[in-house]
This record gives sequence, structure tokens and C-alpha cells, in this order.
Amino acid sequence: MDTIIKIIEVAIPRPIDGLLTYSVTDELAEKIQIGSIVEVPFRSKNIYGFVTKTGEIKDPASLKYKIKPATGLLLDSENDRILFSEKDLKFFSWISEYYQIPLGEVFYSAFPKALFSQKKGRTAAKKAAAKESLSAPKIQLTDEQTSALQKITNSISSDLYRSFLLYGVTGSGKTEVYIRSAEHAVAMGKTVLILVPEIALTPQLRIRFEERFHDNVAVLHSGLSEKARREYWWDILNGKKTVVVGARSALFAPLKNIGLIVVDEEHEPTYKQEDRLRYNARDLALVRAGIHSAAVVLGSATPSIETYYSALKGKHELLELKTRPLHIAMPTIEVIDLKKEIEAEKKLDKYSTKKIFLSNKMIEKLNLTFEQKHQSILFVNRKGFSNFILCKDCGHVPECLNCSVSLTYYQKSGQLKCHYCDFQHALFDACPKCSCLDLLFMGMGTELIEEQVKKHLPNARVERLDADVANSAKKIEAILTRFRNGEIDILVGTQMLAKGHDFPNVTFVGVVLADSSLHFPDFRANERTFQLLTQVAGRAGRGEHPGTVLFQTFVPEHYVIQAASEQSFLKFYNEEIEHREIFGYPPFSKIAQIEFRHLNEPQAKREAETAKKLLEHLQTTDFQFLGPSAASIAKVANKFRYHILLKAEKSSSLNSVIKTLRKNGIRWIDVDPVSTL
Ligand code: ADP
Ligand code: ZN
Repeated sequence: MDTIIKIIEVAIPRPIDGLLTYSVTDELAEKIQIGSIVEVPFRSKNIYGFVTKTGEIKDPASLKYKIKPATGLLLDSENDRILFSEKDLKFFSWISEYYQIPLGEVFYSAFPKALFSQKKGRTAAKKAAAKESLSAPKIQLTDEQTSALQKITNSISSDLYRSFLLYGVTGSGKTEVYIRSAEHAVAMGKTVLILVPEIALTPQLRIRFEERFHDNVAVLHSGLSEKARREYWWDILNGKKTVVVGARSALFAPLKNIGLIVVDEEHEPTYKQEDRLRYNARDLALVRAGIHSAAVVLGSATPSIETYYSALKGKHELLELKTRPLHIAMPTIEVIDLKKEIEAEKKLDKYSTKKIFLSNKMIEKLNLTFEQKHQSILFVNRKGFSNFILCKDCGHVPECLNCSVSLTYYQKSGQLKCHYCDFQHALFDACPKCSCLDLLFMGMGTELIEEQVKKHLPNARVERLDADVANSAKKIEAILTRFRNGEIDILVGTQMLAKGHDFPNVTFVGVVLADSSLHFPDFRANERTFQLLTQVAGRAGRGEHPGTVLFQTFVPEHYVIQAASEQSFLKFYNEEIEHREIFGYPPFSKIAQIEFRHLNEPQAKREAETAKKLLEHLQTTDFQFLGPSAASIAKVANKFRYHILLKAEKSSSLNSVIKTLRKNGIRWIDVDPVSTL
């Protein structure tokens, strides 16, 4: 007689290939299904794993290996307490295959850690408050919005996968289109996932969604406690929350029957996770939507080159919002040539290298805006007081002891700091190399600009928003709220100010150095600069008063500056796509970057050379590689870095090369890197 035992297949969060098989008792088997978390023995330890299959086998004694029994159950199917559905298992398997990461590691990265530490069943689920009916739409959509909405809702109704690029200028009312589309999906009994680059920076958006979806919405933001996050998770799983709004990790929220996925500001690099599971939530949104036969909307005023290219090729349907509602005009943009400004100052003998450059025009604009009782944003690419200090005699630039980057000077604390590893050193009185006393403060950071603006406009209320003064979501929100309430006249800030904010009383935006990110040694440097400039400019004149923008630059003739000042995405795109084609960068190739890090430089280099040999001996020919070369930032936290860049025409070719590399123990592979620095 055959003995039959019940077994499960389990993915564990360890760097091993394949799934493991365990036996389960009949009693346990009843509670286990795909998506359960179990406790299993692995290498003399008990660890947890994710159940991906249940089944039975006959005659286990005849097997060559011994099947060990699973020892327990962390999450069972009672009350639907499982982590993922079969549909989403497909999604996770896709991720595992594409990035060549073991399935268990994918699960580990995808789910909130708090889920694993909670052993007991949840105490009585909170009763869902009576669902209020969705409030009736208040604003009259523009024709462009109506037409875009119609296409999206038709697609949702069709139960078929379809992807859209909603390309709408800043302030054109994209969010309104997302919300109405979401209402349509919810009315059909489907669920909705809205991804935003950084929810912490946009409390306003949160309010807009909560207003419309009341108790149905789960807003996942970094300010949530682990407990709240866990509660939300179960509520989503049990269908109590049908609309999820959140940053990249919300992609994995356990929604069933998804009808719509929105990726707002799809071009944002924050959709890329840079550790452990290096995924891009924007790209994966398309995959998940495909599996759920849902509609996807990628929205942006400055689409990524890849996405726009795909739209032109017909992979996404292009929906355009070319104007702002209520006849609100786009801002006027002026460009100031800093070379000429400096020449003029030199002639007047007013120029000194220690002087920081806020042109007369910039000061004039700030003054004018202040007198009109409007608000200004002054955008600076760097935090700190100055980018670096330089010895006038020997040219020495003090660098971090652990990283190959210059130290940034902070005036308030009198410290030199490293932006990569937090190394600090008190400001030197003299050059540490040649003892010369003449140290120059080069470049400019937020702290310095704030000080300069205060000098020029002593009566204005000037404040700063950057990672130093606002290092938590709460602090950021507090500053933004005060700005919105009119308690700040001029806000000096970094990137943080560029994104999605709607401040109706801001009529002037100044960019202190528009070309500051243009010269990064990365093939996306131009794209990033264009996006940043367009987004920052888009903060001006969103209310009843028209906005003006001033870009200060040393390269006014550069096509990025020109296209940004003309607010012409197409002008930028047409030029940039040519460069990409000539150099064979995405969208004309698929790329991956391999990194080799070691405390010992020759060792890092050796590992890179070994990988190179491996690549040279691969049979396949449909890929190329560049390098190895020392990374642009050659040392971070004392570890030396070498890079190899892989390029292939087809994703499948790249994938098979990566498979081989991983098999050979090469671990740091970034598939579709957003930055190659
Ligand atoms: P985007 O996301 O495209 O930058 P938003 O959706 O934030 O733009 O819209 C900008 C502003 O315009 C918001 O204050 C929004 O409430 C308002 N708005 C959107 N659509 C309309 C409309 N049809 N009529 C009037 N105001 C609108
Ligand atoms: Zn450092």
C-alpha cells in the first residue's frame, strides 16, 4: 500500500536557487494554502518561508532525499490571513525571474517586516465604519480631462490590460483624472492602486484622496507606525480598503481584483529601490496590471525618455493635457547668463570669488514678489553652505576619509560633512596640505543662499527646506504647511520643493544654478536636469496670479536649458533620443550594471577582472559590456567600487547573461539602473 503524505513548496528568504519541499501534518495542511507563512527547519535553524504550492506525494520512502516536516504556521488562511494570492504569485515569480533574485528574497523585500513578527491571530477586526457615499464631483472637467478620463474608464470597463501615458503639463489637472478614474473602478467593484514618488512630501494629495474615498482609502506613508501598517495590510487583504495610495512599496499591497494602477510622476527615480531587491515600481506596475487585466496610467509633465518612446511606438496610448484649467497660464521663463553677469561685475570691479551669485535680476524679482505679498521659491541643488572648499595656493579640496567625494561645509555647525557616510570634521583654519590660510568657499548650498537672501531682503520671512532642517516627514510637512498658510515669504530648498506641490500664492521661482546637475557623468544627467527644471518652474503661478521663473546658468545655449526655458518637452525629447540612439543607451538597449566593492582596492579590481573574463568566454554574442572601470564615485564608506556595464538589445539576452553571473556568485547586479554613478 502506498503511503501518501502532504507536502508544501516553500520559498525562503535566503540566497538559494529554487524552492524547498517540506512535509506537513494533516492538521497543519488544513490551514495552509498558497500565501501562508510557515516555519521550517533550514540548516539547523528554524526560519520562516512562504508557501507557493501545496500537494501530496506517494511513497516518500522511495525518494532520494529526506523530506523534513514544517514545524509551524505563522500566518494561516483563517480570516484570509495569507500574504499573497495565486495571481500575485505569478507577479512575484515574474520579478524573481526578471531580476534573477530568489523568490523568497522577493517576498521578503515586498512585505512589511511587521507581518512576520506577529504570531497570533489578530484580535477582532476593527469594524469598518459605515461607508459614506463618495462625494459628488465638484469641479467641471476640461475637455482634455474629459477625453482622457473617458479612454481610461472605457479601458477599466473592458476588463482588459491597457496602458496609458497621461502626458499633461504641470498643473494641468492630472490628479483630478486619476481620482475620477479611481471612482469609476471602485464603482465597478474593483480596487485601485495609486503610486506616488514620495507620499511624505505631498500631504495635500493625501487629503484629496481621503476626501473622495473616505474609509475606503489606505494611505501608506513613511510616517505610519509598524502597527498601523500591519492593520492596513490586513484591511486591504480583506477588502476593507479598496483604494491604496502610497510610495513604491505600496506596489505590493495585497489588493485583489485590481482595476486601475496609476503611477504619478512616472519619471521619478524614487520608483527605483536601490537595495536588496533593486526593482523599479513603475515598470512592475505594468506587469502587475497585466496579470490583473487592469488599466495602467503613467502620468507626468516630463515623461521619461523610455516611456515617451514606448508611447510613440504604440505600446502605451498617449493622452495629453496641454493646458491648465481655468485658463491659468504657464509661467514665463527667463534665462540669465552667469558668464555675462560675472564679466559685468568684473568690469565694475565688484566681483570676488567669495561672493555668491544671486544676480541683480534675481534679487529684483524676489523683492518685487515680496512687495506684491506673493511668495517665492528659490531652488538650490545642494544642501549645506558651499559644495566644497578649495585651497587658493595648492588647489587642494578636502575630501572625506572614507569616500572619494569632497566634503560639504555647513556654516551653522562649522563642520565639514560627507553626504555619503556622515563623516564630519571641523572646518580647517588652514589648508591641511600646504598650510595656506586662503581657503575659498566654492559652489553654493541652501544654507548659504538662505543667508544671502536674508541679507538682501531683511524684512522677508526666509526659510529653508532641505534634508538637514527637515529630516522627517513630520518636519517637512510642518514647513510646507506654514508656507502654504503664508507664514513664509521665501522658501529656499532642494529637490524636495520640486515635486507635485500646489502653492497657489507662489508667483516666482528662481533656480540658482540651472546647470548644476548637467555635468554628472551619467547618461541620464540631461534628462534629470530637464525634468527638475520643468517641475520646479511648474510651481510658479498655479493660482490666479501669473508666474515667472528665472534660471541662472553658465550654459544658456545648452539644449536642456533651452528646451526647459521654452517649456518644450518635445524639443528636449527629439534631441535627447538622438543621443541615446548614437550611444546605444535605453530605450535602444537594455542595460544592467554590475558592481564590485571591496575594502581593498586591488581585490575589487581583481573581482571585476574575473567577471570580465567570464563575460568574454560566454557563448552568447548578443550582448556587449563596458569596463570594468572605477566608478565615478570611486570609494564609498571605505569600499572601493568598480563597475561593468552590460548592454543588450533584448531583455532576454541580458537576462541569460545575468543568470550566468549570479550562478558564479556575482551578486551586485542592478538591472535597469536609474543611475550609473
Ligand atoms: P497636476 O497633477 O497635473 O500638476 P493637479 O491635478 O494638481 O495638477 O491640478 C492643479 C490644480 O488645478 C489643483 O488645484 C486642482 O484642484 C485644479 N483643477 C484640476 N482640474 C480642474 C478643473 N477642471 N477645473 C478647475 N480646477 C481644476
Ligand atoms: Zn564619506
